[in-house]
Amino acid sequence: MRTIQSAANAALTVVSNKINYLVEHVLPHKGYGKRKKYFWIICGISVAISYNSCGIHFNKNLITAEAKPAIAAAMDSTKIATPSIKALNQKTIYLTFDDGPNRGTAKVMNLLQKANLPATFFLVGSHIHGSQKQWGEYQAILKNPAFEAANHTYFHAKNRYVQFYKNPAAALEDFQLMQDSLQLSTKIGRTPGCNTWRTTDITEDVDRRSRKAADLLKSEGFTLLGWDVEWKANGKQQLKSTAAELAKEIEKQFAERLNKTDDHLVLLLHDQHFVDSTNVQALEDLIVELTADGYRFEKAGNYPCL
Ligand SMILES: [Zn+2]
Repeated sequence: MRTIQSAANAALTVVSNKINYLVEHVLPHKGYGKRKKYFWIICGISVAISYNSCGIHFNKNLITAEAKPAIAAAMDSTKIATPSIKALNQKTIYLTFDDGPNRGTAKVMNLLQKANLPATFFLVGSHIHGSQKQWGEYQAILKNPAFEAANHTYFHAKNRYVQFYKNPAAALEDFQLMQDSLQLSTKIGRTPGCNTWRTTDITEDVDRRSRKAADLLKSEGFTLLGWDVEWKANGKQQLKSTAAELAKEIEKQFAERLNKTDDHLVLLLHDQHFVDSTNVQALEDLIVELTADGYRFEKAGNYPCL
């Protein structure tokens, strides 16, 4: 899919060049009536391009009927293969698994590999070093190009979130220890116990207590990815909704434009929920359902405007 995105970006560059050419060379020689018509065509294309400047896919609603032929003509003249508008519009889900490695991690990886799906594991350093088995699972995540390891702190705030977020310097230290001890290749992180966003475009603390720590983390170069939907479980690790119910919720999120970024949904799951056979089957059902619904899947590192 990165190939399609690269092609789309290349196409956008070409269209952009075409616009520059029209503005600099064609419009000065056209009559007023034609100039006005070009002006509105260019406005339509510019809005679409600026909307996509950070890699977000085309929103077909932003491309006017008037602008479409102009885009098609510009692309056609380049004689390069360009993806269809439909392909560019496909909705994307980011499967993210928190708190591993733990008892559920191997089963999660097994299902994802069978379905050939990418995913991001927000890992906890003390869990990685917790046993040989967990260290091996961490190595397996690193070796698989479909998987991505991301920072969920070394000690997971020792599960004392109030104290953790009251002391931003200590929060930074927990993230930095994870980062340095494992030499992670990216600085994508997720705050423990709080849905917090710090990307180029998004600054949001669903729980306000994480604000100061998140600001400090961002100033130190971390990108924080929260989530749009969580598959929750009760205290007995039983999932609170079925795969079909969760798939419906996901569909509604997209339809009602409730995600942080239109057409992109970050789904939060936890490895430890996928230990018993009922829950493992539910995860398999969810994968089958979402795949059948035609969604694209990406690693968190490919989220727009990180
Ligand atoms: Zn966590």
